[in-house]
Amino acid sequence: MIKQPEQPPFPPPAAPRATERVRSWRWLVPVLLVLLFLAVLIWLPWQARQMEATERQEQLIADTLWVEQTLRFELARSEEALTNLGADLVNRPPSPTALQARFKQMFNNGHELVRVVWYGPDGKVRASHGLEPSTLLPAPTRLAADVAAATRRARYSEPYGATPTSPGLLDFYLPLYADGQPAGSLVATYSLQVLLDETVPWWFAQDNALSLLDREDRTVARRAAGGPGRGVYTHRRELDLPGALVVLSTDSVKRAPQLLPNLLVGSVIVLALGLVLSLGALWRHISRTLAAEAALRQQMAFRTAMENSLITGLRARDLEGRVTYVNRAFCEIVGLPQEELVGKKPPMAYWAPEVMAEYEERFRGVLAGNITPQFETVFQRPDGVRVPVLVFEAPLVDANGRQSGWMSSVQDITDRKRAEELNRQQQEKLEASARLATMGEISSMLAHELNQPLAAISSYTAGALNVLERSTQAGEPVNPGMLRHALDQARQQAQRAGQIIRSVHEFVKKREPRRELVTIRSVIDGVHALVELQARQANVVLRIEQAPQLPPVLADRVLLEQVLLNLTRNAIEAMQDTRLEMRVLRIAAAQADGQVTVSVIDRGHGIAPEVAAGLFSPFYSTKAEGMGMGLSICRTAIEFHGGTLSHAPNPGGGTIFTFALPAQAAGGALG
Ligand code: ADP
Repeated sequence: MIKQPEQPPFPPPAAPRATERVRSWRWLVPVLLVLLFLAVLIWLPWQARQMEATERQEQLIADTLWVEQTLRFELARSEEALTNLGADLVNRPPSPTALQARFKQMFNNGHELVRVVWYGPDGKVRASHGLEPSTLLPAPTRLAADVAAATRRARYSEPYGATPTSPGLLDFYLPLYADGQPAGSLVATYSLQVLLDETVPWWFAQDNALSLLDREDRTVARRAAGGPGRGVYTHRRELDLPGALVVLSTDSVKRAPQLLPNLLVGSVIVLALGLVLSLGALWRHISRTLAAEAALRQQMAFRTAMENSLITGLRARDLEGRVTYVNRAFCEIVGLPQEELVGKKPPMAYWAPEVMAEYEERFRGVLAGNITPQFETVFQRPDGVRVPVLVFEAPLVDANGRQSGWMSSVQDITDRKRAEELNRQQQEKLEASARLATMGEISSMLAHELNQPLAAISSYTAGALNVLERSTQAGEPVNPGMLRHALDQARQQAQRAGQIIRSVHEFVKKREPRRELVTIRSVIDGVHALVELQARQANVVLRIEQAPQLPPVLADRVLLEQVLLNLTRNAIEAMQDTRLEMRVLRIAAAQADGQVTVSVIDRGHGIAPEVAAGLFSPFYSTKAEGMGMGLSICRTAIEFHGGTLSHAPNPGGGTIFTFALPAQAAGGALG
């Protein structure tokens, strides 16, 4: 099946270099854009992580500040209570019970307070609450007491007493003055651990490990409800305590924000992967499409070149018979340009008027879906010249397998027709010459044959003259009976001679082959006299055997006579050296398998295998004066009639040549 061609096929699509260059640049822009997009995609999560880290750090700093403020506030509240108590102790000392009650209240208000001691001006303990007071102040407290005495201001000691297992303590030293004179002191001891535990809210302690550090960075108290800090987000803040350097250190238990579990990062990666994959798929698809396009272009160029180089005309028609495509060769065959053919519906400009009916009949078939796959017809060029063409037609099927029209290939067979005509003429000439040659060979016999009637005419006319003369001399009336008899005989003999001459003329003259219904009997009768003549000369007995009621054949009588004469002449010549009693020539006509067969059977020398090979070739002869054309012409003539010519050895010695012709129904004018 042939695919629907596209229009117009003639100019092949060019693929210039500039297009190639543009194509390679075309990729660069999307590639750069994709790279930029990927860079942004990668940068975004990194940036987000940075922002998150900064935010956490800032949050930690703010929280630390807040905790520091809280601690400071708690200590300040305690300071204030102690200062008030100190003033009361100097100015109007409460009873011991009232003092204890105040102490108790202070302890209730601030759990971090583990001990309060009131020292008199002599350094002795006047009253205390909480832990047992030691007579000797710890060294840091003493140092603070010295500075406080010198500056007359309350002071904190450096944290002390911390061991790796127990937290440290912090003292607040408040010197008391009465009328400007030292009047003892109040020393409050705080547990830094309780301070942390009580003041820092649980949620903060859950998220951060908190430590209080002394001047040498030793941990004096620690709270880490949520586990140790990770050292990622840390902050240090000094508590603003006069005389003491206590640093609040916070260390978040949070890790640095991780890149992967981040939702944004995840979605970005998924997006990027999806983008890269879909880009890859798109790229592959486009590459494939481009490759297919290039292949198609090449195919098209190849096909166009092929179609244009064809000498066979191509024509496509749709189902309505409208011409959809013609190639160059078709335009040349019909002598019309493409524009005058494509899109046109019958009757076409190249239809010759004398075959119009045939075209229309065939076109009706095309519309009905019945095509003649192969036929010969004639097209007409605009100058009137007729072009014999051979047309092949096939259904045209589209990509969906549906028939969309018809495709025809058209061959200009002018040359073939001319060659056939020439061949026919030469064959005719050859046959005529062969007939002449045959006649030449039998002319001596003819002369002999003609001699007889001529001699008979001569003697009959001489007899008639004698009768006339005798009557004149005798003065008797002429005997009309005798005269009529002689003249009648002379006329019959003259007719016989004329008959012979006419048959020779008929046989030899140049003529067109003419087929008609012929009986084999009439063919045999036609050559009987001549064969008989040859046979007699060669001392051969002729026997003719004909089956009864043989059907006629459709043939040219003269050609069949020529075949029979050739075969009988060969048969007689083959029996030249045969013993006299064996020289029998049989012509047998019979009927078999719808064919009429005629066999020429001789008892001659037979045909050697090497002779059989070249028997039917033109100019093949084993005879000194043979032309070698006889059997070649016989075979051509028989095949021209749709029959066959063959030979076989005669079982009794010799050869049988048989030709068979299709039998026709009897009737009509039989020759
Ligand atoms: P020609 O008779 O001029 O030689 P033909 O074509 O009639 O040419 O015959 C070719 C050759 O075939 C003859 O030369 C002969 O050798 C052989 N041949 C033909 N007919 C017979 C036959 N009946 N018996 C034997 N040989 C034959």
